[in-house]
Parts: sequence; C-alpha cells; structure tokens
Amino acid sequence: MNSHLFISVIFASILANSVSALPRFFPNSSSIPRSLIPTNPDGKWDAFKNLTGCHAGENVDGLANLKNYLHYFGYIDKNNFTDEFDDNLKSAIKTYQLNYNLNTTGELDGQTLEQIVRPRCGVADIVNGTSSMNSGKKTTSSGIHIHAVNHYSFFPGTPRWPAGKTDLTYAFLPANNLPDSVKAVFSRAFQKWSAVIPLTFTETSSYVVADIRIGFHSGDHNDGEPFDGVLGTLAHAFSPPTGILHLDGDENWVVDGDVAASAVVSAVDLESVAVHELGHVLGLGHSSEREAIMYPTISTGTRKVDLAGDDVDGIQVLYGSNPNYNGSATSTTTTTTQERDTSGGGSRFGGQLWLLLAVGMGLLTL
Ligand SMILES: [Zn+2]
Ligand SMILES: [Zn+2]
Repeated sequence: MNSHLFISVIFASILANSVSALPRFFPNSSSIPRSLIPTNPDGKWDAFKNLTGCHAGENVDGLANLKNYLHYFGYIDKNNFTDEFDDNLKSAIKTYQLNYNLNTTGELDGQTLEQIVRPRCGVADIVNGTSSMNSGKKTTSSGIHIHAVNHYSFFPGTPRWPAGKTDLTYAFLPANNLPDSVKAVFSRAFQKWSAVIPLTFTETSSYVVADIRIGFHSGDHNDGEPFDGVLGTLAHAFSPPTGILHLDGDENWVVDGDVAASAVVSAVDLESVAVHELGHVLGLGHSSEREAIMYPTISTGTRKVDLAGDDVDGIQVLYGSNPNYNGSATSTTTTTTQERDTSGGGSRFGGQLWLLLAVGMGLLTL
C-alpha cells in the first residue's frame, strides 16, 4: 500500500465514524415539511442583498462578512477584514464579475449580489491569485468577432485518474444508510460521464478501499471544510486520485427529479449536484459557461443533469472519447462560438489553474 493510499484509508476510516445525523431525502419538493423551509429564500447569504449599491470608500455593516465569503472562494487574500469598501474588495468584485459573465463594474449592483447569494459548490473558484474561469483566460478579438476560449478548467497540474485504471469503484458511507433511490441517483450521475469517456464505474460495498467515496455530512466533518446548514454551500469534492465526494447532509435533497414542480426554495436536486461533483472527482474545475454542469452555482428548484458541450470537451481532454460516444453533447449550449485557445494552451497546462481546496493540508492535519 503506498503512502497516499494509506493516508486516504485512514482519512476514510475517520470520516466513516463522524456522521452526526442522517441526511434528509424527499421524493419531491412538495413533500418537504414547512418547518424545514428557511424563511430567507437564499438562506445564509441572503443578508448580502442589503449591500446593494455600496460604493468604494463607504463603511457598511456586512462588508466584512462579504470579504470572508470572497476569501473562502478564492477572490481576496485573508486579512483583518473590516466593513470598509476598500480597493481590495473592489478588485475582488471585478474578478468575480468577470468569472460570472457580469458587468465588471467593481460595484455591488443587484445582478452581482443575486449571483453571490445563490447556493453553490464549496470548491473555490481561485487559488493563489490565478483562475481558469474567465478571469484567468485570454479573449482574442478578430475584427468585430469576439472569440471566447472554452470555459472548462482543470486542477493545478491537470491531475486525472491513472491511464491504466479504467474501471473505478465507488462506495457510499455506510453510516448514511442510503436508500436505493439515492444510490440510483448516483448511478445515473456516473453514467453521464461514462457515456462520453472510456471509464466505467462500479459500486462496491467496501467503503474504505473504494476509489471514490461518497458521503453526506453535517457541519464540521474533519476535512477543514465544514458545511453550513441549509443552502449556502451544497457539496464539495477533491481532485484525482483522492476520490472524496461530500454532500451537505442538512440540505433538503430531492431525489426524483421534479424539483422544479414546486416553489419550495430550499429544494435542491440531488442528481444535478452529483453530476457536478463527479466532474471534480474526475479532474474538472469550474467553468464560466452558465449552461455547463461545472458552473459553480445552482438555483434551488432547478434541475441540470446533462453535460454541456463545454463539459464534454473538458473531460475528453483528460480521458479521450468513449468509442461509443456519438460526438454530440447531451444538451446543447447556446453561447457564442467557442474556439480552442491555441495561444493560451501552454499556460492552461503550465500552472495557471485554480486549486481545489487544499486536500493535502487536510490530510496532514489528521
Ligand atoms: Zn464545483
Ligand atoms: Zn468534506
């Protein structure tokens, strides 16, 4: 057993014993009890909307919290955050706006705050000041035509599962006692990816030695990235070959796919989040392409389970195409024509990649 695997197994064993409560699953959004529906439609980040219209130089309650948020997702260095709208905050907001295709005003306008409060993946968009979402990419212009690069991204060093390992095993945290309906959601999510790349995924009951380990956890669960209750961050996953995928056990997870049928704001479609997190498990980072599975946010009551062309292009760079793949994405994207960024190709693989939250550090602290 190599040292990485050894540490991974210890890590898995500790996590297997750290579950405080069973996750909540609902067959559909209308079966969620009223008592579990938050009063704030956007959950814990709703208060950020009160910052609408703040300008540089102002001192407003809540800006320090916003700086903490932007720090968590990689947009601003850790500092003694105050409630002052300083230059660092303005710069961080501009980068955020660039990544999410918003007007890069550096102002806290309504559109920007609407985006900021959406439930999202807990994986950071930027680490060490670099990003391969929009803010880390070049856009070239030719005459009146603007050609955007592809929006998919990878982890630093472009890690992937080893070439000889084409059948990956996966297992569910035994303490979660997941019903078959939930396991079936993950089976479908794996199929989205195996349809386009030459990898297969097989469930095993042996959690500790499985390549991919899936667990629902609440709050602090010993990997340095505590979950935050209903909405906010929904899930996170670690880069290959770590194989760790965690979901927030406090969400109101809807398993049967009719999440849009109700106005219940806290209903989160499990399959949509599962497909996204498996993208991380396989080596994809976040994408600025709104239609892509790897876009970092998902609104409640939304179902998005089909890979976009951007996702397919990205994952096939890592693994090649499944010979049976018919060459068209399972959903079409409607954005402007995208071209390979030949001029920026070197830097994509040369280190201008954002980093998933530091799994190495998490393992070292055990
Ligand atoms: Zn993500
Ligand atoms: Zn975790």
